This record gives sequence, structure tokens and C-alpha cells, in this order.
Amino acid sequence: RAKELGKNGFVFYSSEWGRQINQRMVLEADLRRALAESQFELHYQPIHDADGGVHSLEALLRWQHPERGLVAPDVFMQSAERSGLIVPIGAWVLRTVCSQLRVWHDAGAVDVKVAVNLSARQFRDPDLVGLVMGTLAEFDLDPSCLALELTESSIMQQPERARATLDELRRNGLRIAVDDFGTGYSSLSYLKRLPIHALKIDRSFMTDLPDNRESGAIVSAIVTMSRALGLTVVGEGVENSAQARFLNDLGCDLLQGFLFEQPAPAMVIESLLGLGRRAGMGSAVSVQ
Ligand code: C2E
Ligand code: MG
Ligand code: MG
Ligand code: MG
Repeated sequence: RAKELGKNGFVFYSSEWGRQINQRMVLEADLRRALAESQFELHYQPIHDADGGVHSLEALLRWQHPERGLVAPDVFMQSAERSGLIVPIGAWVLRTVCSQLRVWHDAGAVDVKVAVNLSARQFRDPDLVGLVMGTLAEFDLDPSCLALELTESSIMQQPERARATLDELRRNGLRIAVDDFGTGYSSLSYLKRLPIHALKIDRSFMTDLPDNRESGAIVSAIVTMSRALGLTVVGEGVENSAQARFLNDLGCDLLQGFLFEQPAPAMVIESLLGLGRRAGMGSAVSVQ
């Protein structure tokens, strides 16, 4: 680490650490501008039932950066979370999803349901339930058309408080899925007491299916357990037909992954769902 003694005896760190702090600040400022200048957009990825039909869509955030092009959430989510910017960004995601659902429902696709990801910071926000219910009401939508995806670790940060929030969401008619399941450390007995509807098996277990015995055993155990607890189980990150067959043979309820579709803008998904030309649709919504 390069260290220099300055004029007044201060120690200057011209180190990797200093550069990281600087990059962090630049990224935060960029994110703030992205929100103000509407650079975010949503892609949607279908979740399929056993017959191959579309069960629902997962909304996935993208950042259309003026120089860097389309940026995936892994690059900026940590920064959005740390700075708290994920709260207004998350509110934008909810509004955009609800506004899109209204358009799709008006066009006759009344069964379309969308899952929205929530990060730990959003889940802790005391206004979360009000925000979700208010946004649904604004677009005159039934809560059953929205699912919220939360990771185990978001829930386990403050288990008792999480349970109260989940109870309230459920009482209001929302569905809850535990995302990236298997990577956290929720105890099964705890999980049993949570008002959740679905488990999404983490992608890391899919990668080496069906050949890897350990992954196969874990996935099989998760499917069996979900059954026993009356939960819907989703296999995510399905990239090839061997993986899909393995999951189908186990009785996994829903599948999602590049084997079926990549996440895509609303317009692309519309034509995929056969909504494209119907009832004068064909434009993705964008809200401020
Ligand atoms: P996630 O919720 O677990 O989403 C699944 C991720 O896997 C998505 O990455 C998706 O594009 C990717 N994926 C889907 N199928 C496949 C596949 O077959 N193979 C591979 N290799 N990947 C696949 P993405 O869109 O980059 O999102 C990453 C994470 O960012 C999400 O993980 C979620 O935790 C977070 N995220 C995305 N959108 C939002 C949002 O609106 N709000 C919040 N709070 N978090 C979000
Ligand atoms: Mg998700
Ligand atoms: Mg996931
Ligand atoms: Mg994930």
C-alpha cells in the first residue's frame, strides 16, 4: 500500500482502498442520475408450468447507461442497497410493473401475474406494505396478480419483524416466494411457520444437474420438502433439457431459465404471449 507523509504530517493513502471509495461515490452519483433521468427499464422472464404454459413473469431491473449500455443488477445492486437508493428505485419498479399489468389486463390478458424482487433494505422499509397496496390500488389491480420475491437472508436478518411483515402482506392477498433458496440458512422449522407460497431453488444447484450427485440430492430434497409443506417449488436457471427433465421427473411445479427464454423487454414478451397485436397493444409502458 503506497503511503506518503504529506506537508502537515497527514497520512495519504493512494491505495486500492481510496480508489474503491471513489468508484463507489461515482457509481452512487450515477445511480441517482439514472433515477432522475429515467435510465432504468424492466425486462421480464416467463416462469413456466409443467405443461410449458406461462405461469407468470419475473420483472428484472436493467440500467440503460448512456455510455456503458445495458447494465445488469449485479453491477449496481450492492451500491443501490448501501446508499438506500434501492428504495426509490424499488418504488419505480413497482409502479412500472403495475402500470404494465394494467395495460396487459386491459388488453384481455387478465391472468398475467408478475413477480417483483425485493432487496433486504426494501423489505425493512416501514412503508413497504403501504407502498405495495397503494400502487396496486392506483392501477386498480388485484393483489393476487403480484408476487414478491425475497431471499432467505433478507428474511433472516430480523426474523420476527420479517414474519410480521410477511403476515401483513399475505393478509392483503400478496404471494411471497423465497428466492435463491438453499444458499441461506433458514431452519426448516422456521420456514414452516412463515406465510410463504413458493420456494425458488437457487441457480447454483442447477449448473451441474443432472450429473452431480450432491446437487441432485439437494434439489430433490428441496422439491420433496416443498411438497410436504404445501409450497410451490420453482427451478430457476434452467439452461438445458436434461436439467428440465430432471426437475420435471421430481415433480417440480414451475421452471424458469434460458432454455425457455432470456429476460426481455415488455414488447418482446407481449408478442411471445400472443398479446402483441391484440387490442391495440404493442408499446411498453414507462412511468416516472
Ligand atoms: P434473481 O431474482 O435470482 O433473478 C434470476 C437471475 O438469473 C436474473 O439475473 C436472470 O436474468 C438470471 N437467469 C435467468 N435464467 C437464467 C439461466 O438459465 N441461466 C443463467 N445463467 N441465468 C439466468 P439478473 O436479471 O441479472 O438479476 C440478478 C439479481 O438482481 C436477481 O436475482 C435479483 O436478486 C436482483 N434484481 C433484479 N431485478 C431486481 C429489482 O427490480 N429489484 C431488486 N431489489 N432486485 C432485483
Ligand atoms: Mg428473483
Ligand atoms: Mg433467484
Ligand atoms: Mg439471485
